[in-house]
Amino acid sequence: MANPIIPAPVPPQGGRYTKIVSPKLGVPEKGIVLSRAVLGVETHFIDGRTSPCLGREGGCVGCAERAGKRWKGYLFGHSQTHHCSCLFEIPADSVRRTALLNGGAADLRGYQIELVRVGPQPNSRVLVRLRPDRDAQAKSGPEPDILSHLSHIWGLGNPFPRVNPEPVTDEEVPLPDDEDEGDNE
Ligand SMILES: [Zn+2]
Repeated sequence: MANPIIPAPVPPQGGRYTKIVSPKLGVPEKGIVLSRAVLGVETHFIDGRTSPCLGREGGCVGCAERAGKRWKGYLFGHSQTHHCSCLFEIPADSVRRTALLNGGAADLRGYQIELVRVGPQPNSRVLVRLRPDRDAQAKSGPEPDILSHLSHIWGLGNPFPRVNPEPVTDEEVPLPDDEDEGDNE
């Protein structure tokens, strides 16, 4: 009988990867912003995880199940907490309350960012601290494609999740008591 175990070579160390980061209580997320501005997308929270809204025409499962939509903002950067490329996930409410994220800065590249969860619940409010410690290196290089990173992380080819650049209105459709849902992916 053949041995069912398949030998495998030693995997290469590290490797480039990008993860979505969101602070847990007592564990701030710190890093450097490497994108100019927040990119926002509509998401659903289905089966315990965040999934992008693909729109009804895109065959969105969340829309078909009439799940509530939640806007989330993403900034590409380098995580000093996890030592990797990351997408800082920022709830709509935190973007609204942070002028620099809400149209107050033309270019956020090079800013130090710290995300702190300020309440006891996993979905408690996230405080955003930004310091313009300009790092010339952060402003060089190509603009990161946040949507492409999100699509990769979420296992999508096309269509990409739909971008909603106008999050900071009251037109979003929050579910009761979950406006600041943090799923801590
Ligand atoms: Zn949808």
